[in-house]
Amino acid sequence: MKFLLENNLRRLSKWLTFMGYDAEVLGGSVRTREVMSRFDRIFVTTSRRWFDTLSKKGLKVVLVPRESWEDQLCALIKQLGIKPSLELNRCPFCGRALVRAGEDLVKSRVPPKALETAKDFTYCANCDHLFWKGLHYERMKSMLESALSRC
Ligand SMILES: [Zn+2]
Repeated sequence: MKFLLENNLRRLSKWLTFMGYDAEVLGGSVRTREVMSRFDRIFVTTSRRWFDTLSKKGLKVVLVPRESWEDQLCALIKQLGIKPSLELNRCPFCGRALVRAGEDLVKSRVPPKALETAKDFTYCANCDHLFWKGLHYERMKSMLESALSRC
């Protein structure tokens, strides 16, 4: 399942990326031709008007609430049955698939203090970013849990 999201849905897009989904955000305002050319993606919008217009053209469109990524995520779960688990297998900056980071890379790039608690090191070859599950991972898990409790 691949997504194309309206520009005001950046936060939702990040969470979709955390869950392992291919999610792209429109650079600017919605233009019919641009969205139609990405017909392989599910378009996510907060606008009833765009929902109606693009649905009529045969595009797969999902309408989500205007406020709060939590409610928006709940809408996607209800309408599409997406699986809300933290996969963390895509780069949050560029969306590329992450690979397991080699030991040398980890040793040279991760601060010694972080190494004590960090695990599951991954790497984005496109952005040259190294990621790991540390303290922020627990925080993300509880953020997601509290979001899901609203669904
Ligand atoms: Zn990247």
